Amino acid sequence: MDNFIYKKSLGQNFLNDNNVLDRILECVPIKDKSLVIEIGPGSGNLTKRLAKVATNVLCYEIDDRLEEVLDDNLKDFHNIKIIFADFLKRNIKEDIKEFAYSNLYLVANLPYYITTPIIEKIIDSNLPFEYITVMIQKEVGDRFNAKPGMREYNSLTVYLNYYFDLKKEFIVSRNSFTPKPRVDSMVISLIKKDNLLYLKDKDKFNKVLKDSFKYKRKNIKNNLKNYDLEKVLEILKKYDYDLTVRAEDLPLEVFVSLSNNL
Ligand code: SAM
Repeated sequence: MDNFIYKKSLGQNFLNDNNVLDRILECVPIKDKSLVIEIGPGSGNLTKRLAKVATNVLCYEIDDRLEEVLDDNLKDFHNIKIIFADFLKRNIKEDIKEFAYSNLYLVANLPYYITTPIIEKIIDSNLPFEYITVMIQKEVGDRFNAKPGMREYNSLTVYLNYYFDLKKEFIVSRNSFTPKPRVDSMVISLIKKDNLLYLKDKDKFNKVLKDSFKYKRKNIKNNLKNYDLEKVLEILKKYDYDLTVRAEDLPLEVFVSLSNNL
């Protein structure tokens, strides 16, 4: 890797701390016939560890300059497949067809510039991920983990909480990366919820969420002014709120109810 020119535009900050790499593995209970997906293997430092415990590892790496390094670093493993392509452009369902697995995982030190699109793609795939353990920018982790009433609570927080229990694992200093980024990081696990609340229409849920949080300083009456406000009030009242409430104060159940009943 000595002469490798890291591309900032691809979020190329590689983990150089073995202790952190080991700790990431400790967060994920990989078991049985397992398939682990990794986005952005980089030089393969996390991949290697995953391959030791998983039945199969499927990686997506956008930068084919890394092919030689990865071939060399991973030559002792026969359970790793690397697709050199943009993860966001792939059909994951097609890609994993060739693998037999009973448990599916995603473990990655994500390229931060596309954290949200990656998570959205994973959720939209409807694939049964048991556990998603990812390193993300600390600030983004705080948003994912936020509770109603907190400044960081936003539509993505609610969206994630619908599907997953979120677990903040640990903070990683910027000094653990090469090159050193400007921000600290967080390892977070998203653990599949067994019982999802009934949702009539997922697209509607997304729309109601986005609209509710549209203008941060405005209340629900303003942000949902294009909906039937009488109906909105009726639903809010069931949960002891009224139209002056702000989206950042509402828990998940209220958004689910709004989306099912509007
Ligand atoms: N896993 C390595 C590690 O922990 O040191 C590298 C992680 S680095 C933060 C992110 C990696 O994602 C880089 O290798 C980068 O080339 C890759 N990447 C960036 N955008 C990508 C995309 N759209 N699809 C697949 N890989 C991507």
